[in-house]
Amino acid sequence: SFAERTNALEPKINSYVTNLIDRAVEEAKEKDNELLKLSEIPDIFGLPVAVKDNISTRGVKTTCSSRMLENYIPPFDASVIVKMKEQGYVLTGKTNLDEFAMGSSTENSAFFTTKNPWDYERVPGGSSGGSAAAVGAGIVPAALGSDTGGSIRQPAAFCGVVGLKPTYGRVSRYGLVAFASSLDQIGPITRTVEDSALLMNVIAGKDPKDSTSVDREPPDFLSYIGKDVKGLKIGLPEEFFIEGIDPTVKEAVLKAVRQLEKEGAEVVEISMPTTKYAIEAYYIIAPSEASSNLARYDGVRYGYRASDYKDLEEMYSKTRDEGFGAEVKRRIMLGTYSLSSGYYDAYYLKAQKVRTLIYQDFMKAFEKVDILATPTTPDVAFKIGEKVSDPLQMYLSDIFTVSVNMAGVPGISIPCGFKDGLPVGLQLIGKPFDEGTLLQVAHYYE
Ligand code: GLN
Repeated sequence: SFAERTNALEPKINSYVTNLIDRAVEEAKEKDNELLKLSEIPDIFGLPVAVKDNISTRGVKTTCSSRMLENYIPPFDASVIVKMKEQGYVLTGKTNLDEFAMGSSTENSAFFTTKNPWDYERVPGGSSGGSAAAVGAGIVPAALGSDTGGSIRQPAAFCGVVGLKPTYGRVSRYGLVAFASSLDQIGPITRTVEDSALLMNVIAGKDPKDSTSVDREPPDFLSYIGKDVKGLKIGLPEEFFIEGIDPTVKEAVLKAVRQLEKEGAEVVEISMPTTKYAIEAYYIIAPSEASSNLARYDGVRYGYRASDYKDLEEMYSKTRDEGFGAEVKRRIMLGTYSLSSGYYDAYYLKAQKVRTLIYQDFMKAFEKVDILATPTTPDVAFKIGEKVSDPLQMYLSDIFTVSVNMAGVPGISIPCGFKDGLPVGLQLIGKPFDEGTLLQVAHYYE
C-alpha cells in the first residue's frame, strides 16, 4: 500500500533523490518468507523507512543533494543503517535535502525542490524536507533525518509530523556526512510518537566508531509511551514567545500547553535571556565547522572533479566552484573568515562563549522544570521562492530550534493545530538524555 501511495504522490511532492520503492517491495516479499523462520521478530522487521540522503548507505548513492556527490556510492553503511539492517528494515529510498543540510526549505538542493504535501506551492521545510514530506504524504511510515540547527524539527512542523532530535551523543554520527560536527544529530521523523520511540530504540547507543557518542545505556523509549503527565513541570520561556511570531501559531501552542495543566502538569513561565543570541552564534559556529568539514571535497579523493584545468590549483578551485551551490559557498566563506587569524577571537571564540551561556540558561531552567514548551517555528510553511533570495530571512526560520543544538539537549516537534489548513508545530525540549520524558509528554497529544 505504501508503494501504491508512493507511485500516486511522489510525482507531486518529489521527496526522493533516489526512489527505491520497487526494490523495497521485492525486499518486503523476501522478508515475508524469512519471517516464518524467525523465532523472535525484531520490532522494525519489514518496516519501510526512508533515509535522508546525507546518511551513508552502502551501494546506494548518497548525494547530500550536491553536484559534488551526485554520483558518489559509499562503500560502507552509517552505524544507524547497520543497526536498522540488523533488525530487518526495508530502505524505500534516499530523500532530498538542502545541499549538505544547509538550509530550511529544501530549495538549496542542487537537484530540485520538494513540495509540502499539504500545499504543493509551499516548502516542506528543511533541511530534512524530503524525509518530512514523505512521511507527511503518508508514502512511508517513518524516515531518518539529521538536525544541526532544526533540520528535523522544522520540516516536521511544516509537514504535520513528529520529528525528534536526540541529545548530542545519543545516536552515532558515524556515516552521517558532516556539516557541523559539534551540532549534528540523526533522529527519526514519524507519523506517531510511538513510532519515534520505536526507532529510537533501534538507533540509540554508544558506537565505538563515533567518539562523541556517549557511553550511557539508552532506556526502553517505548516504556514512556502512555505514562501520564501528572506532576510534571513544564516551562514556558518568555524569549520564545516574542513579537514577530504569528498570533495563530502562538495561540495553538499555548492552547496545547494549557491542556497539560488539565492533566495535572504544572506550567511555569521562565526566562532564558541568552537564548536570543542563539541564531547569531549558530551562524558563526556552524559555518566555521562546515568550512573545515567541507575542505575534503577537493576533487582528488572522491566526488566531483572538474574536467578542464591546467594545474592542481585550478583543478581544486574549478572543482569547488562547479561542485558547490551558492549557499554552501556562502557558509564556507563565512566560516573561513570567522576562523582566520585576527577574526577568530572576535567571532569564533565569542560565539563559543555565547554557546556556553546558552547551555547554562538551559541547565538553570532545568533546575526548575522538567521540560520546556515552545513553538517549533515562528510561522507555518512559507511559499516556494518566498525567502530564497534573502538568506537572513531564511536563517530566522530556525530562531526557536538552534539553541537546542547549541546546548546539545533533545527536542521534539509534534503537530498541535492548524493555521489556514497548514500544520503548526509544538516543540518540547528536554534535559540531556531525557528523550523519554519528551516522548511521554508528546504522546499525551495523540
Ligand atoms: N536551517 C539551519 C541551517 O541552515 C539548520 C540546518 C540543519 O539543521 N541541518 O543551518
